[in-house]
Amino acid sequence: HLSKRLAKAAAYVPQGARLADIGSDHAYLPANLAINHIIDYGVAGEVVKGPYENAVHEIQREHLEGKIFPRFADGLKAIEDDDQIDTITICGMGGTLIRNILEKDKSKLQNHPLLILQPNVGSNVLRQWLQANHYQITHEDILEEDDHIYEIIVAKYANQPMQLSSEDLFFGPILRKHQNNAFLKKWEKEIEKNEKAIHQMQKATNPPTQRLAQLKTENELIRGVLA
Ligand code: SAM
Repeated sequence: HLSKRLAKAAAYVPQGARLADIGSDHAYLPANLAINHIIDYGVAGEVVKGPYENAVHEIQREHLEGKIFPRFADGLKAIEDDDQIDTITICGMGGTLIRNILEKDKSKLQNHPLLILQPNVGSNVLRQWLQANHYQITHEDILEEDDHIYEIIVAKYANQPMQLSSEDLFFGPILRKHQNNAFLKKWEKEIEKNEKAIHQMQKATNPPTQRLAQLKTENELIRGVLA
């Protein structure tokens, strides 16, 4: 049984995919997909010993040895040529960390796998990377679970780079066109947070004018995008 967040990400994995789940921890995502016969080959990559052992145990517990292979490795180094990976999931990390993992071992992306990414924060950094690396965003989701708001970005390689505006990068090209409750909540919270910061700064003897202007501009931008 997957969390709502992981279930959403899992739903984008194509039938028959050869999946690498990077930063897999318990390997819940690839294990669930194997149990449900969506995949019959997966790699669960982990760079930290404890989470790696969690993956090993879960795979044994579900009798998935021979289908899901745990690998103790940094980022995309978990992927080997023979795996013929065509889909990569990276979930539950900050956008910058996900970006760094993708950027660090680009040779592992030679076959242009489908990318299913679930950044907890900083999704704009990720969209920028996708744009610069000829990945086209095909789906986006935003959802709330246990008082957290999560985003999911699905991207596939394309010959033409995307043309994303700064609003697209910041809010998501698809998310901002179909604003659901989680989207509204996230950005209303952001406005509130900025308002509080502005209020605090204005009380200072020497208000940081540049930062104040930046926050005000950001709030105008957000208000402009919210339907
Ligand atoms: N993907 C699971 C999920 O979404 O529920 C686990 C998320 S957990 C918060 C993040 C995991 O990423 C941790 O177990 C951490 O050890 C792993 N991680 C962080 N950096 C990594 C890297 N460079 N390579 C592989 N795993 C990494």
